[in-house]
Amino acid sequence: MQEVIIVGAGLSGLATAYFLKSNGVDALIVEARNRWGGRIDTVQAAGNATPVEMGATWFADKHTYLMRLLKELELPIYKQFQKGIGIFETDASEEAQLFQIPDSEEASYRVAGGTSKLTDALAQQIGTENIILNSPIISVSELDDVIEINTAKGERLTCRYLVTTIPPFLLLSQKIAFNPPIADEVKSVMENTHTWMGDAIKFAVEYERPFWRQIGFSGNVFSHAGPAIEVHDHSNYEGSRFALIGFLSADASNMAKEEREQKVIEQLTRLLGDEAASYLSYTERLWKEEAYTFADYGKYIMPHQNSGHPLYAKPLMNGKLLLAGTETSPVFGGYMDGAVYSGLATAHHILQEKR
Ligand SMILES: Cc1cc2nc3c(=O)[nH]c(=O)nc-3n(C[C@H](O)[C@H](O)[C@H](O)COP(=O)(O)OP(=O)(O)OC[C@H]3O[C@@H](n4cnc5c(N)ncnc54)[C@H](O)[C@@H]3O)c2cc1C
Repeated sequence: MQEVIIVGAGLSGLATAYFLKSNGVDALIVEARNRWGGRIDTVQAAGNATPVEMGATWFADKHTYLMRLLKELELPIYKQFQKGIGIFETDASEEAQLFQIPDSEEASYRVAGGTSKLTDALAQQIGTENIILNSPIISVSELDDVIEINTAKGERLTCRYLVTTIPPFLLLSQKIAFNPPIADEVKSVMENTHTWMGDAIKFAVEYERPFWRQIGFSGNVFSHAGPAIEVHDHSNYEGSRFALIGFLSADASNMAKEEREQKVIEQLTRLLGDEAASYLSYTERLWKEEAYTFADYGKYIMPHQNSGHPLYAKPLMNGKLLLAGTETSPVFGGYMDGAVYSGLATAHHILQEKR
């Protein structure tokens, strides 16, 4: 039997295991995907191996739990490049407006080498042998003093404390069998909890050189015309690899990949000049196609709706089942900082209970 099993090897699950281990308690992580990281995934782009973020990227000084963890793990961070001219377009047929990015803009940071450096460092600290991949859980049962879980791969595991970090809406929509069932009042909050960025479309275009900087542009674009609605400079920490990164509008998911790529390049060329057409690679991720991140709500749920709801702080199954994950965090719920906070609070709770 395990003392603690954590479901999900995203930032929350990894942080929970890391904080427990720092206090002498080992945990086993059970993860559905074939990789750890969840909504954090840094990919090496095909042209020049520029590290491009398909998931979480930016954070700021106000994200104190994340900042502290990065420092503790000795992971260097650097400022997001945003010097120069920004572009705002309302309509593709109208001339775009140019604006100077003010110096007073709050600094945002990135992790040197990519955000996956953080999840990789946590996985190393925990010990990768303590992370079971490719094992979606399918049932959770309370048996006297323990909890038993079953995975789709046929594993049956028992533990004293079970921590789930699956985004709450997904936890319900996956139809995991809970015995006894989750109380209706908790279920109704879960049913209405937004999964931050769960349906985002992220893209990155890699270039040989940062041609936009050389003509005075910051790389920032905000557009109502699309398909790219937001673009940022995505050059690497060392200043040797260059890319633009951003988000596509939701309706871009109706296009074929080739069409999306072509339309993004056309838009960048229209806004930043002909050199935008000479790109090395195009990378994208449609998160709504990721079954272990997103399920269709079937209705409108506001961004961050029910993030950090107080009911998530109450353990279930007589104190043995803890609901964690960034969406349960009262501090920056939905963001990386919320995930680290959730890990810290969950580990703290278990350590207090064990005393
Ligand atoms: C495109 C995008 C951009 C973002 N940008 C930013 C940003 O710039 N700054 C920021 O702070 N945040 C950003 N975020 C949010 C950030 O990624 C999340 O806050 C954080 O990574 C969430 O961590 P988590 O562990 O709580 O959840 P997740 O990362 O979702 O982890 C949950 C884990 O549970 C696993 N799982 C699901 N079902 C099962 C099952 N049945 N059995 C076992 N395992 C299961 C999943 O595979 C996953 O690994 C972004 C997210 C996305 C998608």
